[in-house]
Amino acid sequence: MATDSSPKQEIVVQGISASQGIAYGQIFVYLQSEVEIPSYQVDPDKRIDEIARFDKALLVTRQQISKIQNEVEKNLGKNEALIFDAHLLVLEDQALISETIREFETTGRNIETCFNNVSRKYIAAFAEIDDEYLRERAGDIRDVAQRVLQNLLGQAETSISRLVERRIVVANDLSPSDSAGIDRGSGLAIVTDSGSRTSHAVIVARSMQIPAVVGVRDLTKRVRTGDWALVDGYDGVVILNPSEQTLFRYGKIQSQKKSYESRLLAANRQKAVTLDGVSVTLMANIEKVEEIEQVKQFFAEGVGLFRTEYLFLNASRIPTEQEQFLAYKAVVEGVAPYPVIIRTLDLGGDKPMTSDPDLFPKEDNPFMGYRAIRFCLDNQQLFKDQLRAVLLASHFGKARLMYPMISGAEEMARANQMLDECKQELRARGQPFDETLEVGAMIEIPSAAATVDLLEKQADFFSVGTNDLIQYMLAIDRGNDRIAHLYEPAHPAVVRTIRRIVEDAHRLAVPVSVCGEMAGDPIYAPLLLGLGVDSLSMAPPSIPAVKFLVRAMTMADARALAADVLAMTSPKEIYAACQGFAQKRVPLD
Ligand code: PEP
Ligand code: MG
Repeated sequence: MATDSSPKQEIVVQGISASQGIAYGQIFVYLQSEVEIPSYQVDPDKRIDEIARFDKALLVTRQQISKIQNEVEKNLGKNEALIFDAHLLVLEDQALISETIREFETTGRNIETCFNNVSRKYIAAFAEIDDEYLRERAGDIRDVAQRVLQNLLGQAETSISRLVERRIVVANDLSPSDSAGIDRGSGLAIVTDSGSRTSHAVIVARSMQIPAVVGVRDLTKRVRTGDWALVDGYDGVVILNPSEQTLFRYGKIQSQKKSYESRLLAANRQKAVTLDGVSVTLMANIEKVEEIEQVKQFFAEGVGLFRTEYLFLNASRIPTEQEQFLAYKAVVEGVAPYPVIIRTLDLGGDKPMTSDPDLFPKEDNPFMGYRAIRFCLDNQQLFKDQLRAVLLASHFGKARLMYPMISGAEEMARANQMLDECKQELRARGQPFDETLEVGAMIEIPSAAATVDLLEKQADFFSVGTNDLIQYMLAIDRGNDRIAHLYEPAHPAVVRTIRRIVEDAHRLAVPVSVCGEMAGDPIYAPLLLGLGVDSLSMAPPSIPAVKFLVRAMTMADARALAADVLAMTSPKEIYAACQGFAQKRVPLD
């Protein structure tokens, strides 16, 4: 951490550009770390001290919560501060406290272990209750328990969802739920030590239009809360203690960018039709029900990817069939008459469900582990609840269903088998659904890409998940900043694979879309269209730039670009060709 208090010098730090935009403000340092609970036996003659330690941690926690409550009341108002009353009540819960002490007296294990066991039992019990108000208490207990444990272990606490002033969040790492939990009004920008352009936390920031720079290595060690910084999400630069000249220069850059972006926005009302008259379908990727607004605001022709796992990530327990149905129905109705592709759960990888750590034990290779369809086929009740919820929602608009991380035809057949069982169950219940619901697979594992001809007998459409496809093809962990420079969408292997997927799928007239981040990048969108991809799905704010380019090019030129690129050998050469294509048609500002 920086320690000198002399006049602050301007320092420029280069990272990876992850979400466009410029922000200037004070830093809030957020250190994400899981509380690891040591477990040990306490000497019988130290038992009184151990209980005193517990009492002290409860007292300190109470003081911390009261302080936050006062701040929130001051900054946001009385009502917003009320939530902390529930937190204070948890600390007075005699059952929780006396059960912890009883467990300590019986087992003699350290108080952290006993408190953790008891609070987890309570969290699980509350999470099961069929009453929404009581269920929410599970979240309160979890929050407070986390604080008590941090105090017992002498760890500093910082929480991102309690950010009440407009700040630049500088974090060592950010989970997708952390990122989704940042309030758009208070998160000025996001900067992380680790991460890459396609880590899920960054994808969320892009959708929320919060500037982000990732992979700045040890920045959290070099700054402290309250320092001033400028974040340039266009070039992936963070400037600490920017000088007057720098601020002036960026003021000019920002107004140029704004005027360019408003030109794009103005043109975005027009249809996505190329100069030679080919219509291109541009759809939206969304993570939350509220993003329906953005789907409309950016004139997306439907939702090409609804990442349903976010309904689970920020919940204190697994949403029921009915709760999911209401969420899916809201999106399907909100986006009608356009279609909504509802992707089944893609939990695991960098998106474990933290409210139930038993479901996702720690793994050495989470991206190659217990994730997405693998997890669903292993948790059939949970999967079937989701499938029924999607089927029920399909009655209210144009829904489609899509499985993530399909590795081959057998897995797809198993998923479809379960879908058939759900259809039977709904017919028996007399509940209507769209009998013609289309079912698709994401092509994001190389084994699926190599067997599209086997999959297409069971699929009505395919969507290429380039984020994962690239990581698995090139063996580059998509969240690892150390190798982020090797993550090459322009690698010949990637280009050839997409070409092959399209050719194989089109042989049986199965349409192919791309919903990975490549689709929303104006550098790559023409190449994908030239390779024969039928539609593109992207974060809603990416639509205007892609549409502008589509309207400035001919499909014939895009096909010629693809043909040229397919003959190239190096990613650099391919990137340059794509960049040249885009730059010739629109200024890529
Ligand atoms: C992908 O992998 O390209 C994709 C769209 O899915 P996600 O980013 O959610 O893994
Ligand atoms: Mg994926």
